[in-house]
Amino acid sequence: MTPNSSDLTGLKSKLPDLRIYTPSNADFEAVAALYVGGIPSRPLAIVRPRSEEEVGAVVEYANEKSIPLAVRVGGHDLLGRSGPNQALVVDLRDIKYVDIVDDGQAAIIGGGVLAQDLADTLERTGHATAFGASSTVGYVGWATHGGYGLFSGLYGLGVDQILGARVVDYRGEIFHADEELLYGIRGAGSAFGVIVSMKIKIYKLEKVLASALVYSIGAVENDLDDFLRKYQKLLDQGIPRELGLIVGVANFPKAGKALFCSFMWASEDLVAGKVALAKMQELGPIVMDTVAEVTISTWLRNIDKNTPAYGVYSASGPANVLVPSFDNQVRDILVKFTKGLPADPATLWVENHAHGAALEPKLPCSFGYRMGHIMIEIIGTSVVEEMAKQSGDWVVSFDKAARALPQTLDGGYIVLLHPSVPSKLCYQGHWDRLQRLKAKFDPHNMFAFSVTGLDGKI
Ligand SMILES: Cc1cc2nc3c(=O)[nH]c(=O)nc-3n(C[C@H](O)[C@H](O)[C@H](O)COP(=O)(O)OP(=O)(O)OC[C@H]3O[C@@H](n4cnc5c(N)ncnc54)[C@H](O)[C@@H]3O)c2cc1C
Repeated sequence: MTPNSSDLTGLKSKLPDLRIYTPSNADFEAVAALYVGGIPSRPLAIVRPRSEEEVGAVVEYANEKSIPLAVRVGGHDLLGRSGPNQALVVDLRDIKYVDIVDDGQAAIIGGGVLAQDLADTLERTGHATAFGASSTVGYVGWATHGGYGLFSGLYGLGVDQILGARVVDYRGEIFHADEELLYGIRGAGSAFGVIVSMKIKIYKLEKVLASALVYSIGAVENDLDDFLRKYQKLLDQGIPRELGLIVGVANFPKAGKALFCSFMWASEDLVAGKVALAKMQELGPIVMDTVAEVTISTWLRNIDKNTPAYGVYSASGPANVLVPSFDNQVRDILVKFTKGLPADPATLWVENHAHGAALEPKLPCSFGYRMGHIMIEIIGTSVVEEMAKQSGDWVVSFDKAARALPQTLDGGYIVLLHPSVPSKLCYQGHWDRLQRLKAKFDPHNMFAFSVTGLDGKI
């Protein structure tokens, strides 16, 4: 039976102080806004608990009344799974504390912390941790499904930072995740319950040499193949762990279609950082260079300025493929789909590659890709609604062409997987163990809107 607003009456009396937003509430649209707008779904209500006890009571209530439940933090899921139709959405953004513990080796963070909240707090004591390339992404949603980013060579992926977690299960019970559940959370975080807090590794690092290089349009139209060949050579030579590089092609407001490199030198040894920067500057004619010594929090905030704001359109969902290298066939596909890139500022392809610490997990983990690989994200969002179909078609053709290559790995990065690809492929040898964990911790698949595709059916 479809739930309706009368189903919430008991919740209001059970938790009179709980912040509840229903569609009739003036703030509802602002609270409900997801990174992808225009998704024709309307949650039954959004609740904003301020403690793990409130989360527990909400989940217990939803379970008793059989109300579909979803969890939301940064709202970046590109398929809208954090704001589904007629679901009760538990929005954790008011649980955003950051406590530094263990003599500065770790931090306990609230389940609703956004990357920027975390970077701002860590900066006060000269600390850092691994981050993705978005200030508004939820840290738990990013870290627990993989967590690629520019610090991965030095610190590892997001999953490698997770030391502990407190979870609210489908009955509303709150507990510390045991080792087996932590293995599941490090790769399939959203499948088992609400993660109300996590203990993560932190490190001493105050400043980085970072930001973006944009190469001329010629590099895209004529020289992309050459650029990628030289870039691959650099990767083959072995780049330092401190060096984070992300390369992609997007449409820029002034430069138009251009090749860019997000550069990160995560060390205070600036002499070595400038040598690494010079190597990237030599790869093509530069039209914009914003690389400078900055704090991590400033670096993240600056990324936000170049990221399309919440409310982009998406007709196809995202896609991504994992390939071993930029070999001839991969480069051919990148050149072809770069030439056909729709002219919208939110449509792009971008790579992340695993090196250094990202290849050497120290903690048991269900994230499967620990061989050297390049993850090519194919993002078909659009700022202009009329462009959504063209961008979506581009994503589907690009994904299909890249998947047809024999060297493309099975599956992909789960949070950016095209809906046509079975999520099981992303977890490879971990799938059966994860399904058993799912059956144990969420036997009725209460957390069915998880991005993992796990349902506990073995
Ligand atoms: C602009 C943009 C930039 C991105 N950059 C990167 C990047 O640099 N590197 C990278 O690896 N990925 C990146 N991503 C992908 C992003 O990391 C994932 O989509 C991530 O899951 C988003 O988390 P969120 O909290 O922001 O989103 P939400 O949509 O709120 O949540 C995503 C999923 O995680 C679940 N979830 C979130 N928090 C919790 C919790 N506390 N407990 C239980 N379940 C939870 C939600 O239920 C949902 O299923 C990016 C995405 C976008 C749109």
